Amino acid sequence: MRLCYLIFSLLVLSLPLPICSEEVSDLGSKLQYANEIRSSKPAEFSLILSELRKNKNQLNSEQISLLAYLEAYEVTYQGKLDEGTKLLEQLVRNSDTPIEIVFRSVISLINIFSITNQWTEGLSYLKHLLNLIDRIGNTELKHNGYAVAAMFFNQLGQYSSAIHYAEKLKNSKPSKRNTCLANGLAIEAQLGLNQLEVDSPSLQTAVASCDEEVIMEGFIHSFIATKYLRDGKTREVYEQLTPSLASIEQTRYPRLIAEVYATLASAYLLDNRIGEARLKAEKIVNLAKGLGNTQAIVTAYKVLYEIADLSGDYKTALDYHIKYAQADKAYLDDIKTKHLAFQLAEHQAAEQKSRIALLDRQNNLLLTEQQLARIQAENNRLFISLLIAIITLLGFWAYKSWTIQKRLKQLAEYDALTHVFNRGHFTQVAQSALSYCESSEVDLSYILFDLDNFKQINDKYGHAIGDWVLKKVAKACQAQGRKNDIFARIGGEEFCIALPGCDLKTAIKLAEACREAIATIDCSATGHEFNVTASFGITDTQMSGYKLERLINDADSAMYQSKETGRDRLCIFDPEAKRTIPQASHSLLSL
Ligand code: GH3
Ligand code: MG
Ligand code: MG
Repeated sequence: MRLCYLIFSLLVLSLPLPICSEEVSDLGSKLQYANEIRSSKPAEFSLILSELRKNKNQLNSEQISLLAYLEAYEVTYQGKLDEGTKLLEQLVRNSDTPIEIVFRSVISLINIFSITNQWTEGLSYLKHLLNLIDRIGNTELKHNGYAVAAMFFNQLGQYSSAIHYAEKLKNSKPSKRNTCLANGLAIEAQLGLNQLEVDSPSLQTAVASCDEEVIMEGFIHSFIATKYLRDGKTREVYEQLTPSLASIEQTRYPRLIAEVYATLASAYLLDNRIGEARLKAEKIVNLAKGLGNTQAIVTAYKVLYEIADLSGDYKTALDYHIKYAQADKAYLDDIKTKHLAFQLAEHQAAEQKSRIALLDRQNNLLLTEQQLARIQAENNRLFISLLIAIITLLGFWAYKSWTIQKRLKQLAEYDALTHVFNRGHFTQVAQSALSYCESSEVDLSYILFDLDNFKQINDKYGHAIGDWVLKKVAKACQAQGRKNDIFARIGGEEFCIALPGCDLKTAIKLAEACREAIATIDCSATGHEFNVTASFGITDTQMSGYKLERLINDADSAMYQSKETGRDRLCIFDPEAKRTIPQASHSLLSL
């Protein structure tokens, strides 16, 4: 509270010395010059600003921001705090404002709010300032930021925080002026915490650092004297204040003078130096009129009341007591308001922190959910891949076993050379065909044929050509038959055809067609000239019955008959004569 106005002016003044106006010609330099003289030469500053305003269109965006800041400063300086606040807040909000101008605007806003006792608003900008401070490159500006923070915390009675920022300022190689400021702020905070050690040599160093800053030096003396007074050491109070009292009075800084007088008045009263005590207290009452609610005015009324009380002037004592009570209440109310503002800010910060923590937790939850979903998707993919692999394997296995089955079936049922039924399979199929024909009372004819002198073909042309002949014969005969004829190779060069639902006449026709087809096989492709013939034996169920064995035997004897009678012919089994009826070659009997 005590130092705020002083710091505002110190911050304002802690700038390089202004250059002379005559040297300034271009707009950029004029702007810079205005910035430098803004508090020292307010009239010239206003003139330059209005000139700059007229030529605003020639300034770049950074210069326009600086001009806007200076305009806000001018308004504030003229005491139009509301207007100044509005302009400064606009600059802070505008995302195009350079960070250092934002920072300066925030400093100005904190100062305005501290002067106008708007603690909540001040705290909110202080938070903003502390967020920005590490990004500020300009050392001087950064130091101003630390000083403002320490000052504001002192005003709020948050002395630990004030010491923290005062120390930060001290440790960042500040200028002499800022060193003095940091020391003053730290001592004020120590006094607030009741931790001020008056014997400490650092106090002497602090006083020495302020040899060019009379007001701050005065404040440091005042803080030390206050400490002595609290300890009841009135002699030390006088020793601390008397040597510098004249220079303190010369500063004409009412706050400081009121403070010092209040300490002295209390000390005099303690020592029963009633006249001096009254004099100082009355001076405070005169001085403190424009100062608002200060500790000094409370002390002054208290001293005056006690003096009147001691002298038995109870009416005056009551008057002063009323004033004392009012001032004390107002002062305490101020303190309460500050505490409330601070607690509110703390509460808001805690709430924000817990909101952030909650959001963090929600975020973590979402992240975990996302991870889980990813893992699930991954698992699904893996599962699907596995399923596809299993299905593919199963399919492959099924296909493989199907082809193997097919191949086995082929091997089991078909003759490997001619690809017609083998004997085993023929027997099976023929048996069922016979059963079916028997039950349906239909005929089944049976043709058996054997190649003639096949051994000679083998012997003459080789086994491979013998195989070739066998294949050709099978193909030629297959081409003659119907779809449901059962054609098979039942021995080396022996074939048979079972014809379900077929009478003997048709069977003879088919046998003759086969005989002719065999006899007309063109063997020139083998590279040899020879003919193939076969001898046929035919029977049917009417003659041989429905037993396969009988059919085969009867056809066989008919086939031997063909062999015996000259080969390349057909013979039909005759059941009655138990003999065979030879058929004229190349001709059919009409039966
Ligand atoms: P016939 O007119 O009396 O039937 O005289 P053939 O020479 O045909 O009869 P034979 O029983 O004396 O000879 C049959 C020959 O058929 C003997 C055998 O080597 C041959 N043969 C049997 N199976 C095969 C075969 O798969 N391939 C070949 N190239 N020859 C075979
Ligand atoms: Mg044979
Ligand atoms: Mg033969």
